[in-house]
Amino acid sequence: MRRRLAGLGRVMLDAVLPPLCLACGAVVAEPGSLCPECWEKVAFLGAPQCQSCGHPFDVDPGEGMLCGHCLADAPPWRRARAVFRYDDSSKALVLRFKHADRLEGAPAFARWMARAGADLLAGAELVAPVPLHPFRLLARRYNQAAVLAVALGRQAGLPVEPRLLLRRRHTPAQGHLGREERRRNVRGAFAVNPKLRDAAAGKAVLLIDDVLTTGATVGECARVLRAAGAAAVDVLTLGRVVHPHA
Ligand SMILES: [Zn+2]
Ligand SMILES: [Zn+2]
Repeated sequence: MRRRLAGLGRVMLDAVLPPLCLACGAVVAEPGSLCPECWEKVAFLGAPQCQSCGHPFDVDPGEGMLCGHCLADAPPWRRARAVFRYDDSSKALVLRFKHADRLEGAPAFARWMARAGADLLAGAELVAPVPLHPFRLLARRYNQAAVLAVALGRQAGLPVEPRLLLRRRHTPAQGHLGREERRRNVRGAFAVNPKLRDAAAGKAVLLIDDVLTTGATVGECARVLRAAGAAAVDVLTLGRVVHPHA
């Protein structure tokens, strides 16, 4: 009963309070949107881009081209795409969603992801998030990647399996680590849920995370899924770090 009342209270509050910008909290016209200033600052990503990792190209080299990193060292996923560049302007958007219980952004983020990842969604058979370690889940109360995966799956009419991957161990913070160190850091950190091995076998899996940094975490998840028999793994994230000289 209490819960129902709380739910009712929320609905009433939503009707009374004006919707707020997902990044800065300014009043906006539509719920789940950005104010014009924030909209202007967010660098949305798209073609031309590396066919494999989605790194944006300044000049269009033609369809199907790969960036230097992917040519030198093929990533374990098929394609990775992101909605926007993760930088000082878009950071607030992700952090508010991650730490501040601002879940009302999820449907809008899912719409943006569906647009940025239209090619990926077209062939996807199963959507799954990068899992959080249970300790972190306790501290944050929800896994932002799972929230995005569920919202996206609902919009796209695709099955979502939030527990397809399990985090076997806590990985130390990766902020200061380089590419190779990050890769070592996440080795063995993930496993396909033994109860769901059949669900992944032979499927084109779309893996969801909030931000792609070096790709070590999603790369390890993709590797584990492929080893468990997934036919292909694509990666779709909200933000993506873009290194200027990659
Ligand atoms: Zn704003
Ligand atoms: Zn690339």
